[in-house]
Amino acid sequence: MLSPQVTPASLQGMLEKKYDAVIIGGGHNGLVAAAYLAKAGKQVLILEKGAALGGATVSQRVFPDFDARLSRYSYLVSLLPQKIISDLGLNFTTLGRTVASFTPDIRDGKHVGLLVESAGGEATAASFEALTGDRAEFDRWNTFYREVSKIATVIAPTLLEPLPTRSELRAAVNAPIWNDIFETPIGEVLESHFDDSLVRGVVLTDGLIGTHTSSHDFAANRCFLYHLIGNGTGEWRVPQGGMGKLVEQLVTLVTELGVDLLVDAEVTSTVRNSDGHFTTSSKLGSFSSRYVLANCAPQLLSKIADVTEPESLPGSQMKVNMLLKKLPRLKSGVDPKVAFAGTFHIDERYSDLETAYAESYWDQVPTRIPAEIYCHTLTDPSILSEELIAQGYHTLTLFGIHTPAKLFESNHDAVKAEVVSKLLAQMNEYLEDPIEECLAVAKDGSLCIEAKTPLELERDVALPQGNIFHKDLSWPFREDGDEVSWGVETEIENLFLIGAGAIRGGGVSGIPGHNGAMAILELENSGADGKGEAK
Ligand SMILES: Cc1cc2nc3c(=O)[nH]c(=O)nc-3n(C[C@H](O)[C@H](O)[C@H](O)COP(=O)(O)OP(=O)(O)OC[C@H]3O[C@@H](n4cnc5c(N)ncnc54)[C@H](O)[C@@H]3O)c2cc1C
Repeated sequence: MLSPQVTPASLQGMLEKKYDAVIIGGGHNGLVAAAYLAKAGKQVLILEKGAALGGATVSQRVFPDFDARLSRYSYLVSLLPQKIISDLGLNFTTLGRTVASFTPDIRDGKHVGLLVESAGGEATAASFEALTGDRAEFDRWNTFYREVSKIATVIAPTLLEPLPTRSELRAAVNAPIWNDIFETPIGEVLESHFDDSLVRGVVLTDGLIGTHTSSHDFAANRCFLYHLIGNGTGEWRVPQGGMGKLVEQLVTLVTELGVDLLVDAEVTSTVRNSDGHFTTSSKLGSFSSRYVLANCAPQLLSKIADVTEPESLPGSQMKVNMLLKKLPRLKSGVDPKVAFAGTFHIDERYSDLETAYAESYWDQVPTRIPAEIYCHTLTDPSILSEELIAQGYHTLTLFGIHTPAKLFESNHDAVKAEVVSKLLAQMNEYLEDPIEECLAVAKDGSLCIEAKTPLELERDVALPQGNIFHKDLSWPFREDGDEVSWGVETEIENLFLIGAGAIRGGGVSGIPGHNGAMAILELENSGADGKGEAK
């Protein structure tokens, strides 16, 4: 079915046109690439499989009875460079959080917790002292993150340039922290830097988001790195108006720039012909272009083009979206407006994380599922109607880790029910008001909670086995001696991978979209472009 904006006549025009670039997939990276190319005067077509644009970067009214537009999949922004926002003139703002994280714990039968403010002030120091007995762990924390920031400030500006070599980056960082992040498994580093299992765990979680691995595997180091380098600070910020605001802005822009957009247009093949042009076939017909940019995952690209399928870990997280009529009080007595203002970690001690990984590796649902919870509306209530704000409603998002796709393969619904029920019970261990009593109730009496397993993410938003980064993250450099590249090239000339699965992809960043567009514009400017002129 054609979307209302596309008539049979306009579709016919697209089928007859020779595009400069066809983009497979209308996620935010496809839209970013389209915007840069169209601004440079190129004719661009986006073919999106789903009924709407945005991929995993959308806001939706998940609970139809309530005007609450939740960031259904991705929810916080760090990796999107300010330069992309300014280059494209996007009206998209992210808001800082006063609290970075709160981690409840039970010690000697008492409910306590670790508070980390974003600016790391006196309340953070006092919290470390109350939890660990003195301020030594807080000092170690500050030293560690000060060192990590040296890496962030060096790497962030390189992300929108051709890949530096490993040696160039190491020389630019020029500090012992290089060895900790690039040469030593992060688990070893944490064991040598920190004493407290909860403190180690809070640091480690950044290495395990969407990455099913042990802390002793470099996959955790790569994931950790991407969580700490965004815009040179690694700060995770709240998208004002929700994640869908970014896509709304991008869609408006590319439409104004004359990009053609087709939804419900799953691509089934793309082939480079002998004249150098590509024919890209979709449910709505075949389109011709000089370049193809694949915003879909590389595993999916390998099914539609003659490129090798990459190996990858499966997705391993549960995403639970909730609408609350009130925030729950905590057993520790900490104000919920403080505790939920940042990332609320549950059961993410270092020991919990290692145990959960081992259990899930051996096909068991973890005894305790590590998870992090976040309340968008404490920072940005604008995703709720005035009425819901006035009544004290809030949203909560839970991201559970170490629940890999394979756990759900044989008995999906029963395992999903077991996992959700465990997660709620784990939350309730720390809550004075059980979460079930705080959830909003729909007109039909059901509670406003929805959960997505990795397999449901594959079904709903085409993430292979639910991998939120399409595939495992890569180091943000090329090895010495490798050819110069933007990290988006494939085995086929003029076919570029510009989604999360590219080198320096992963997350809401627009980086591979930008880099794919730059790779093409560089080719055009060098005269080594694809054959044939756009019509
Ligand atoms: C639950 C969850 C939470 C996350 N949380 C965060 C977060 O807080 N912060 C963050 O930075 N990142 C987060 N991420 C990761 C982030 O959302 C993704 O890495 C990012 O959205 C990828 O963007 P993309 O444009 O590269 O690809 P996608 O958003 O995956 O878009 C690719 C598009 O290609 C389309 N497509 C696939 N196959 C075809 C085909 N054959 N033909 C046509 N179209 C096709 C898909 O339908 C999709 O629209 C999260 C992801 C998930 C799932």
